Amino acid sequence: MTESDPSETLFERIIAREIPADIVHETATTMAFRDISPQADTHVLVVPKTRYRNVGELAAADPALLADVIATAHRVAELDGLVDSGYRVVFNTGADAGQTVFHVHAHVLGGEQLGFFGR
Ligand code: IMP
Repeated sequence: MTESDPSETLFERIIAREIPADIVHETATTMAFRDISPQADTHVLVVPKTRYRNVGELAAADPALLADVIATAHRVAELDGLVDSGYRVVFNTGADAGQTVFHVHAHVLGGEQLGFFGR
């Protein structure tokens, strides 16, 4: 991480349970909690407990941890009954993608027919 990065983001405080969140699943390496501003019937964020700024940094530094994040995303889909109907996993990466929290997180979206995305 660069020197301009804040030393802590909101998500470290959620992982440390310093601020409340609607936690739906937790493993030794990941945590999943509902997004405070849901964009679909199911909208859950999955974070690794170790901080990387984005999915590229995570993939380069610890691919096993990235696999844990994806496995937790699938587990969330199972818990919310989305596996048969389908779900989407999104990593917003950088400004053009609208990333606002610089602790890598997967958005798990589903529970309804999702629209196309992009521009
Ligand atoms: P990003 O825009 O991809 O970085 O996603 C950040 C997400 O964090 C957004 O979808 C926000 O709604 C969500 N968010 C912000 N604050 C909280 C919170 O306190 N609890 C849960 N989700 C949050």
